Amino acid sequence: MSAVLAYCDKRGRIYFDDETSPLADGGIVREARADELIPAPKGSVPMILPDRRPLTRSGVASRRHTIAVALPAGYTRLLVPAYESDPQAPALPLFGYGFACAIDDGLHVAAMCTDESEDWAPRTFARGELEALIHRRTTEDPGNRVLAQVARCSLEYGCFTAQNVFLERGEAALPVSPRCNARCIGCISEQEPQTGAPSPQERIAYEISAQELARIALRHLERVENGIVSFGQGCEGEPLLRSTAIARAIDRIRAARANGTINLNTNGSLPSALQRCIDSGLDAVRISLNSFRKAVYAAYYRPIGYTLDDVLESARVAVKKRLRVSLNLLTHPGVTDDAEEISAMRAFLREVPVAMVQTRTLNIDPEWYFGAVGRPRKPLGMRAALAAIRELGIAIGNFTHTH
Ligand code: SF4
Repeated sequence: MSAVLAYCDKRGRIYFDDETSPLADGGIVREARADELIPAPKGSVPMILPDRRPLTRSGVASRRHTIAVALPAGYTRLLVPAYESDPQAPALPLFGYGFACAIDDGLHVAAMCTDESEDWAPRTFARGELEALIHRRTTEDPGNRVLAQVARCSLEYGCFTAQNVFLERGEAALPVSPRCNARCIGCISEQEPQTGAPSPQERIAYEISAQELARIALRHLERVENGIVSFGQGCEGEPLLRSTAIARAIDRIRAARANGTINLNTNGSLPSALQRCIDSGLDAVRISLNSFRKAVYAAYYRPIGYTLDDVLESARVAVKKRLRVSLNLLTHPGVTDDAEEISAMRAFLREVPVAMVQTRTLNIDPEWYFGAVGRPRKPLGMRAALAAIRELGIAIGNFTHTH
């Protein structure tokens, strides 16, 4: 069972070359190990990387285009494709590019299954089914701007937590903030024009009131006993910049209902604002970061008025207050598994034992990311990074769980 090159022609058709051994990129360019490769799981999306030539053991495959695979939810990427870009290569959109090759005539990827949930399995709707649900609901609560936003996110972006508002199941989205105090180079809701990589979603344009938010949350928790309602979604900026509105919404929710989980997805930049939400009854928090090293964090998040120290302090505060705390680790092979990164991560997790580390694939052009944060001195492999988390007795996952 040896891996052979999978590649694309300029029209995106996929081919296998049994005579050629592919190379992958784990921060250093190398061959994928057998324990890093699995058959491409259901829901994998193969993609062509235009004008990017795959690297192989026998050199650059100059007339071929590199293939990459976007993994379905529930998988952690272990390697990215290794390629050489032509000078005129166009900017790549914000997707999670994973390494792919062929084994026994089947497409394989460098990945690990790290979570499972029916709620996040690929979805299909009958014609008009979702639109009908949205129409019925928005007619019942006309003018509710949360509904207007999640209706758009459900139909245009296929966002699961937005759709859950209408499907009345699982985790429901409560977007709240149009502003952010970071300028992530891979921001999915706002991209600077010169990057050439369009943001997959348009950021929400207005500040939603506590009443509107509470109405959506209460309706969801009335219908879903163990439901989750989550402030902080992909279509917005930083929710902690609106902690007063969130606290007021939580007051209204908990004044009427005790069931379910009130969760906040945040960049953790403002520990005191988080404290305000906790005092009102927040149950769980998921804090996003790409690194436990200040320079690597700052190079990606480009924070305004805060640093990684504030982010880590937010996690400390929430763990001390016995919230269910998850870290949303934006993973990238060659960065997440650099020896220095793993030791910084271990030191923090030993001091602050969060409930879960969600290993989210960072959606960005690998060349752009390495250019911004630097290539590693000593990458140990993503499996080693995940093992380091598990050794501390901390769960690894990809979704927010209620328990
Ligand atoms: S914290 Fe979120 S909204 Fe803010 S810049 Fe980063 S990705 Fe964008």
